[in-house]
Amino acid sequence: MAEHALQGVGAAPGVVAGKAIVLGRFDSDDLIAPSERAEHLERARASLEAEIKSLEHIARELQKRGWNEDAEIVETGVLMARDPGLVARVEAHVVDGHSAPAALTAAAEESADLLARLDDPTLAQRADDVRSLGRRAAAHAVGAKLAAGSVLIATNLGPADVADLGLSATGAALAEGGVTAHAAIVARSLGVPMVVGVGPELLDIENGEEVVVDGDQGLVIRRPDPSRVDAAHEKGIRRQRAREEARSRRDEPAVTADGHRVTVLVNAATMAEAIEGFEQGAEGIGLLRTELPFLDARAWPSLERQTEFLKPILDRLVARTATVRLFDFGGDKTPPFVGSGDTRGIRLLLESPEALRTQLSAILAAGAGKDLRILVPMVTHASHLDAVGQVLHEVLDGRPRPLLGAMIETPEAATDASAIAQTADFLSLGTNDLTQLVLGLDRERSKTAPVLDVRVLRLIAATIRAAHDARIPIDVCGEAASDPGAMAVLVGLGVDELSVAASRVGLVRQWVRELDFATARKEAEELLRQAGDAASQRV
Ligand code: PEP
Ligand code: MG
Repeated sequence: MAEHALQGVGAAPGVVAGKAIVLGRFDSDDLIAPSERAEHLERARASLEAEIKSLEHIARELQKRGWNEDAEIVETGVLMARDPGLVARVEAHVVDGHSAPAALTAAAEESADLLARLDDPTLAQRADDVRSLGRRAAAHAVGAKLAAGSVLIATNLGPADVADLGLSATGAALAEGGVTAHAAIVARSLGVPMVVGVGPELLDIENGEEVVVDGDQGLVIRRPDPSRVDAAHEKGIRRQRAREEARSRRDEPAVTADGHRVTVLVNAATMAEAIEGFEQGAEGIGLLRTELPFLDARAWPSLERQTEFLKPILDRLVARTATVRLFDFGGDKTPPFVGSGDTRGIRLLLESPEALRTQLSAILAAGAGKDLRILVPMVTHASHLDAVGQVLHEVLDGRPRPLLGAMIETPEAATDASAIAQTADFLSLGTNDLTQLVLGLDRERSKTAPVLDVRVLRLIAATIRAAHDARIPIDVCGEAASDPGAMAVLVGLGVDELSVAASRVGLVRQWVRELDFATARKEAEELLRQAGDAASQRV
């Protein structure tokens, strides 16, 4: 039969061929026939066992590298997967007629609820880990196993799902989703090609069917020709080579052809991203997204839980900057304990002062002795920074004060950038939210992020000017920093640092080396002049 192409939108670049794993099929609560129960029981047990093996492998690898603390965390996951209570719950659900994936998900949910209610805070903190374990085992159980080389097909995925599953899958396609949604950001970061917005036809794909996901062209190809499969493998090999090349040049500085220095940092939410970024030459972390590991949380994360997440990552930063962003919950990053209101980022955190104190304490403890910067998300007014500064002062209790910076990612903040720059130690342009908010787009569904639109560009230029007038550094941590069209304009406008997805660090450093700063500056000024003309014509 001939190839059949499904059109979507490329959300993470690269092309892969692989066997489809259709996630979400088990969402339907159809009960299985009694004759199928033995097989589902076997599949559920095998999936838990596969999860245990994979965790044991990861723990061994971590130990080999001397990362014993990380290894211990992973080994805790092994103990949870072996918990007889969890196993018994899985079996009971299958006996009640639920499929293996549905039984694994439900049993993990019940075990997590029990843990969350315990008096022992250390055990209660493990509840999210059990949910995550259930999700991964359920993914194994769909179509047997999530083997290396498989391609995820789903209606939609949250960022935590991509982080969990992305390490095993080589590509993903979603019926829904948007290019600026956090799931897409995590996919780009991990270098997993992704196509979103394909539509319901995507879900006609069968488990185990061979497909090609083309994240460059936004296509999913069913029944691909052998030549297309070969081309996908070729591209995969080329991408791997490019990554090795980036790693081999990690010690070369990112300096333009005419000698202008640009600092390239990595955006991370997981240890894997931080390590990949450093191996590609990142000079530090420009954005540590602290909310992503806690999207299943049932309450504000405790001090211990946050320290457990932050410390292993920050410990790896020797003589490198660590920029830790305060929780940016809301939008597509809304855990169960946050209601469905519009309040997001720092406004949400300021409504729970104790949570803010706890997070600042965790950051200070985990980042002791590091070159630490704290970044405040979704600022709309200078008073937000003052409020955080006040609590920081109290929590510091005499310890050295880290730098405090503001994300400029709302139209209000960009308009008020001069005042914010007076209270901040640095600014960080969040072009993902800024673009969507200025242009009135829906970030979770939007198919574009036109950062060079005149309305966005003028706000970016004004923010850069405000930072320089206040003599503080400014970086871009939105995806525009690694967009081939936008990056040269941003450097030309004078940003000091670019913080980009782990998989793009080497590439962006190479682009900097190929750039002529004087030319980039002239071109950016010209673009701005045209933007000014266009704006004045519109008035
Ligand atoms: C941004 O909005 O550009 C940004 C970096 O923040 P996030 O993508 O986490 O919302
Ligand atoms: Mg943002």
